[in-house]
Amino acid sequence: MEILQNYVGSEWKNSSSKTSIAVINPANQEEIGKVPYGPGTSADVDLAVRASLKAHLEWRDVPVMQRVQPLFKLKRLLEENLDDIAATITMESGKTLAESKGEMQRAIENVETACSTPMLLQSEFSENIVPGIDEFMIRQPLGVTACIAPFNFPGMITFWFLPYSIACGNGMIVKPSEKVPLTMVKIFRLIDQTGLPKGLVNLVHGGKETVDAILDHPDIQSVSFVGSTAVARYIYARGAQAGKRVQAQGGAKNPVIVLPDADVEMSSKIITDSVYGCAGQRCLAASTIITVGDKNNEIREALYESARGRTTGYGMDPSVEMGPVITPDSKTRIHSLIQKGIDEGGHVLLDGRNTKVTGYERGNFIAPTILENISLTGELIDTEIFGPVMSLLHMDTIDDAIAFINSGKYGNSACLFTSNGAHARKFRNQATAGNIGINIGVAAPLAHFPFSGWKDSFFGDLHGQGRHAIEFFTQTKVVIERWPKEWSRKF
Ligand code: NAD
Repeated sequence: MEILQNYVGSEWKNSSSKTSIAVINPANQEEIGKVPYGPGTSADVDLAVRASLKAHLEWRDVPVMQRVQPLFKLKRLLEENLDDIAATITMESGKTLAESKGEMQRAIENVETACSTPMLLQSEFSENIVPGIDEFMIRQPLGVTACIAPFNFPGMITFWFLPYSIACGNGMIVKPSEKVPLTMVKIFRLIDQTGLPKGLVNLVHGGKETVDAILDHPDIQSVSFVGSTAVARYIYARGAQAGKRVQAQGGAKNPVIVLPDADVEMSSKIITDSVYGCAGQRCLAASTIITVGDKNNEIREALYESARGRTTGYGMDPSVEMGPVITPDSKTRIHSLIQKGIDEGGHVLLDGRNTKVTGYERGNFIAPTILENISLTGELIDTEIFGPVMSLLHMDTIDDAIAFINSGKYGNSACLFTSNGAHARKFRNQATAGNIGINIGVAAPLAHFPFSGWKDSFFGDLHGQGRHAIEFFTQTKVVIERWPKEWSRKF
């Protein structure tokens, strides 16, 4: 099988690396590609940065209305090729075809939002701060920017950054996850048709060496990272050390409170969709469900029924509701975390560990699993499982549940199910998470809102998407100008 090529200087080129690793379909362990990996990929980064910097120096002065024209083309191309891209996402990441299509819809939505950059870039002006003197602020691009993506959204996550960066006048280097590089190759074949300047955006494959080369490269001005907290922390520290602007989104452990006044049927359906969608491999997946008050048995029963009814299998089969997890290692890690929950005193209400899918016996499948009464002082309570596992807890009051949420180290999202507006207001005010859902299971912000993680789920200041992205990808310049009246009178 051919080794994937990088897209550098608007040409498909072999990597300088002599080594590669296999890209594997998680549903059947079949090899579907080979991706460059290891030493040598840092030379690829350097080539890409040179091409991007050269292009950026002209692109920065192209009027912004013209800079968004390729994005309109990209939107159309993504829409026309949506089914094909979605099939690739399913093949390499395992999620269902419907989930893959949904992911690409959000990517397209970000392209649409970035098309409004001419308005978003408008700035502030104060006339006559003293007679004859005006003060204003302009936003200028940074230069070459970089994006490093995780495996769980092979198509969408790059779009939290890429369209905004280029619309603001920057160049960009994209490094997809080495586990799912095929989707971005397809997307770059479309980017190639948009008329963007030669070399402005580049695709470089690889792993840690590639990332380190990005972090250390003196001509890369900013890094947008999404992945696990340990790596996000590392990226933030090393990037900042090198003087770069960094936004680093990390892991999560998203809690959901269900109050006794919640609609049981609706809540249990939405919550199980959130826990088991994308096989739990979503940074906004609900993971700890806290029932409050005296209806806990009814809610527990409804969650159990909804979870056990879900069909696990190959994502290309339209009847399947949940695909495999990404790798055999990931499956082993999730199994051992379930066991840890049991060892720490928890009980398995629904056990998905011994699932076999006919025809896909080698797939990394785990069926929906529910652990209940796990220890509040154990390790699992604050460990991201990133698999189809619900942890079910019960607490006496909403205050106890909010205090529990706020003691957690992550802050990606927190959700509440209730029919009481006062409880909803209290929760949204007090919960220490950056994305809040009220009667919502996956509090994923639309493209024109920031993707607002807190605590160990985010390192940095400005988030991806919308206005935050415009601010992240530009630097402000404040100008004070004196034009004495007497000079005007001369004419
Ligand atoms: P990961 O941290 O293993 O990898 C992410 C990227 O970092 C990849 O491109 C990888 O090549 C690179 N990388 C991995 N190890 C590295 C190292 N030691 N040094 C430098 N670079 C390294 O994450 P993943 O397993 O691909 O993705 C899953 C994680 O991403 C989960 O923790 C999930 O919660 C998180 N995530 C967060 C968000 C968010 O918005 N906060 C969104 C999606 C995923």
